[in-house]
Formats: sequence, C-alpha cells, structure tokens
Amino acid sequence: MSDAASIDTTVPPSGSGCVECTAAGGWWFHLRRCAQCGHVGCCDSSPSQHASRHAVSSDHPLVRSFEPGEDWFWDYTTNEYYDGPALAAPLHHPVDQPVPGPSGRVPSDWERHLH
Ligand SMILES: [Zn+2]
Ligand SMILES: [Zn+2]
Repeated sequence: MSDAASIDTTVPPSGSGCVECTAAGGWWFHLRRCAQCGHVGCCDSSPSQHASRHAVSSDHPLVRSFEPGEDWFWDYTTNEYYDGPALAAPLHHPVDQPVPGPSGRVPSDWERHLH
C-alpha cells in the first residue's frame, strides 16, 4: 500500500516526454509522471511501458497522468486509482505535443504496436 512517502509535491516533472524513450529515440502513446521523483515515463499501452518499469525498479508506486485534462493517480502496488494531492507544475505535457508522440518518431502503423 502506498502512503504519503510515495509523493513529493515539490518535485517538478522531469520533462515533456518519456525519459527513456527520449534517450533511445523511441515514441510513446500516453505519459505518466512519477509522484515521488518526477520521472516522466510512457504508459502501459506504449511499446516500452517505461512508467511501470520505473515504478518497479525505483520502488516508486504512484504515478499521475501527464496528459492534458487528466488528474488521476494510479497505484501500481494495488492496481487501483489513488486520491493524490496537487503536484508541482506543469501538470501535463505541452498541449501542442502530439499524441502519440513525439513529433517525427511515431511510425505510421503505431496502433499495431500498442499493448
Ligand atoms: Zn518510454
Ligand atoms: Zn520515481
């Protein structure tokens, strides 16, 4: 079960895209933000599922959606939504950033690559 130690409301997100996909030249569908360290990773529908991998490898169980208009948290230890507090801005990736993203790296048959 996650608790307040899994959240740091003072840490800003790591950037506007998935950390690992950006480093590797990959692409993502939706983005999730670690509520503890700010790591931005790709969702479980994305090819590489970096957000949940980060949760396991770093033992940071809570993420918040990093999509515009979404404010829910997810707890990977219970696989349930979580009622979290306000985090440091920005709360989502830039609204002009495409979904899937990033621009120029998404294959034309991207839907076939989703989980
Ligand atoms: Zn990723
Ligand atoms: Zn983290």
